[in-house]
Amino acid sequence: MSRIVVVEDEANIADGLTFNLEAEGHEVEVIADGGEAAERLGAPDRQPCDLVILDLMLPGLSGHEVARRARAAGNYVPILILTAKDDPDDIVRGIEEGADDYLTKPFKLDELLVRTRSLLRRRRWDGAGPADDGETELQLGDVCVRFDRFEVESPKGVQPLTPREVGLLRALLDREGHAVSRGELLESVWGLHPETRTRVVDSFIVRLRRYLEPNPARPRHIVSVRGHGYKFVR
Ligand code: CA
Repeated sequence: MSRIVVVEDEANIADGLTFNLEAEGHEVEVIADGGEAAERLGAPDRQPCDLVILDLMLPGLSGHEVARRARAAGNYVPILILTAKDDPDDIVRGIEEGADDYLTKPFKLDELLVRTRSLLRRRRWDGAGPADDGETELQLGDVCVRFDRFEVESPKGVQPLTPREVGLLRALLDREGHAVSRGELLESVWGLHPETRTRVVDSFIVRLRRYLEPNPARPRHIVSVRGHGYKFVR
């Protein structure tokens, strides 16, 4: 059973989500106000949860601000944003602020449940088996990425990874030694159109380098390919 926080001010949507997520065996907590959600998600140690479904248009604080504050507080719970506007800028902004996935309203319930399951997979840390695809560990010097646990372990400590960070690293690793373009990464990791104007790939690369590189200013493993994209080298 997972604990899911639904941040949604439209009662009929919140009720529908609650009903269906509970039917899948989850525990659901609904918050209808942005300020309250930011407070709740800003204290991950006190009240942990496994997934946040976050509407963007909220009273109090916007969903954008809620996501930003949760990440700033060190809360790396997966966040799925729901946006009424089918506006690429809105989606991109949500992803840049730390959301892991998005759905535009009106959404199909089936699709929401599929996305929910995939975001919750990272929370199954019971050691029941390897991850679905590829290697479960990547050792780079004294840094170890544990894909099945969504963690990087280094002499600095353990750093949790978001599903998108793992997705990006895997996308580069799958093509080890070859340059992968920003457009391909936007499409395969974020499901965005390859020509979407955003710095999201680059900002995630900065994060991965901080976790993996002995000297992030002089990357050895995640190498820039000028005017194109990035390349992973072991
Ligand atoms: Ca709303």
